[in-house]
Amino acid sequence: DKVYRSGEIIRRSEAAVDIEDRGFQFADGIYEVVAIWNGSPFRLEEHLQRLMRSGRELDFNMPDIGWIKEECSDYLEEINCFSGDRDSYLYIQVSRGVSPRSHAYEDGLEPEIIMYARELEPKPEEYFSRGVRAILLPDERWSRCYIKSVALLPNVMAKKKAKKAGAYESILVRDGFITEGTSSNVFIVEAGEVITPPATNYILNGITRRAVLEIAEKLGFKCSRESVSRQRLLAADEVFLTGTTTEVMPVVEIDEFEIGEGSPGEITSRLQEEYWQLCR
Ligand code: PLP
Repeated sequence: DKVYRSGEIIRRSEAAVDIEDRGFQFADGIYEVVAIWNGSPFRLEEHLQRLMRSGRELDFNMPDIGWIKEECSDYLEEINCFSGDRDSYLYIQVSRGVSPRSHAYEDGLEPEIIMYARELEPKPEEYFSRGVRAILLPDERWSRCYIKSVALLPNVMAKKKAKKAGAYESILVRDGFITEGTSSNVFIVEAGEVITPPATNYILNGITRRAVLEIAEKLGFKCSRESVSRQRLLAADEVFLTGTTTEVMPVVEIDEFEIGEGSPGEITSRLQEEYWQLCR
């Protein structure tokens, strides 16, 4: 039960957060979730690049990326992660720092960095083999969703609504167009073409999204990054979600509408298999 806190590896029970930590009081923090498949972190560099960007966009006093990377490796080594044969994930959070409560932050605060690894709760196999349901909800988030901020209340509320409706995910809709899931990106397949909304400020450009696009392009599928309306989503041949813990997950029903034949599509299954190979 060892965790990392700003330069130290300590017992979880000793890892206290200051009550005036801005991450705690203002959700003034950013994070990353990195999958560790068979003991090896998947695209750690890309995750850290994204973390750095989130930090820059919010004017955090970010440490050097090389230093963070070393801290990650040291921590993972210390907890024996690399020798593990179980799948787990590494959670990294950076808060702006600690200072007396005030909306406007002081310049140059020392960021508080925490990380810990935890075993991944395996998802039911039928989610991947038979597909899941999703619901559509209005996207009530702010307009800087490319920043991976810990301010996740709209996502939290929307995910709970999905759970209550017996669905896996809520797909968010802004001005008639889909953006992404609460913790995943959305893809559709239309006449053999793989389509996903472009990486604008309204979505988080997922590491899994990028990997799946790379795979699809390598396999020779035509790929487009273009806006997808609600109607277009519901009429698609195939729909799937991507994410670090979601991997490639077929969606077979959205708001009582069946997608395609109501079972995972051929291209989805192919990409799912290739992604799995890449990770394991
Ligand atoms: N979109 C949102 C809002 C997310 O929170 C996440 C991941 O948690 C994703 C997309 C998928 O990103 P990644 O593939 O990097 O996990």
